[in-house]
Amino acid sequence: MAKRDYYEILGVDRNADAREIKKAYRRLAQKYHPDRNPDDDNAAENFREVSDAYEVLSDDEKRAAYDQFGHAGVDGQGGGGGGGFGGAGAGGFSDIFGDVFGDIFGGGGRRNPNAPQRGADLRYNLEVDLEDAVAGTTVDIRVPRLVECERCSGDGAEPGTNKKGCPTCHGMGQVRMQQGFFAVQQTCPTCHGRGEVVESPCRKCHGEGRVQETRTLSVKIPAGVDTGDRIRLNSEGEAGVNGGPAGDLYVQVAIKSHPIFERDGRDLHCEVPISFVDATLGGELEVPTLEGRVKLRIPAETQTGKLFRLRGKGVKPVRGGSPGDLICKVVLETPVNLTEEQQQLLRQFQESLDGTGTKHSPRKSSWFDGVKKFFEDMRS
Ligand SMILES: [Zn+2]
Ligand SMILES: [Zn+2]
Repeated sequence: MAKRDYYEILGVDRNADAREIKKAYRRLAQKYHPDRNPDDDNAAENFREVSDAYEVLSDDEKRAAYDQFGHAGVDGQGGGGGGGFGGAGAGGFSDIFGDVFGDIFGGGGRRNPNAPQRGADLRYNLEVDLEDAVAGTTVDIRVPRLVECERCSGDGAEPGTNKKGCPTCHGMGQVRMQQGFFAVQQTCPTCHGRGEVVESPCRKCHGEGRVQETRTLSVKIPAGVDTGDRIRLNSEGEAGVNGGPAGDLYVQVAIKSHPIFERDGRDLHCEVPISFVDATLGGELEVPTLEGRVKLRIPAETQTGKLFRLRGKGVKPVRGGSPGDLICKVVLETPVNLTEEQQQLLRQFQESLDGTGTKHSPRKSSWFDGVKKFFEDMRS
């Protein structure tokens, strides 16, 4: 069966803003919700359709992909792919559900606020010099993050004081509110569902149980890392809640641009300027490598743009294997700041070429042939 257009399902204009989409979803989800339509397969199908449509259209990224590519742009990332209720998409489903309805329909997938929660993962963007990336190094980074409060051991209560039942919800963790014809069950705003509050909050963390702290960490950068590589530091992310484990810290590596070398995976590229005399007569040049210098032999009559490959002078990849190559591109340089005498020598040199046809300039002569043919073709 062909899938219906998501905007059509929600009955909104293609230009509808987030508020209009949310409103339409809310209305239709209430209408088709299984609690109100028990044993009605049509309603269940409509409800699933509406939920799929909302999951995509409420997410800027997914909506953009859907606008551009239709269903093909969002299938397989949770939007429309799933089976029926409670299928593969159930996680995402309860998330958006919670987002719009709070606890209106109760239970379904809400977290127990007292359960241990893993701390958030953190990401640190690190720029590394090419030399350091190739050789490997150790870098100290300063990471601001939430750590468990030492004063209260993450409890939130000032040491020596107790917790007491929450006065707002009387220890239930939930409060009931009337909203239209629904009786709405909501997480208690005072205790955030815990059912208890501290008598006097910890003076250091103000009852949060975690404090912001900037710690200096030594990060070992393995030889060969490249832009886009991630280094994971176990348990160096944010502290967990209720005794949950800490998250991880991911160091995202980017290689700084280098004045001489350009990296392309295992290979390095560089440009080597040479004089037209060296290019003509041939000779030996010194070219830089990451470890020092090597000699590069330029044969006579080398043209500009020619590439020379120095095997094994590239980068050894981080995951092992042999190093790549250094690829030198020879670039002929036009001489500047010549004295009158030097210019005179060049004129004499030019005169010595006159009358010798095109035998000294193979590229120029074939170019002229091409131009001539081009004009002849135009005339005919
Ligand atoms: Zn504390
Ligand atoms: Zn409460």
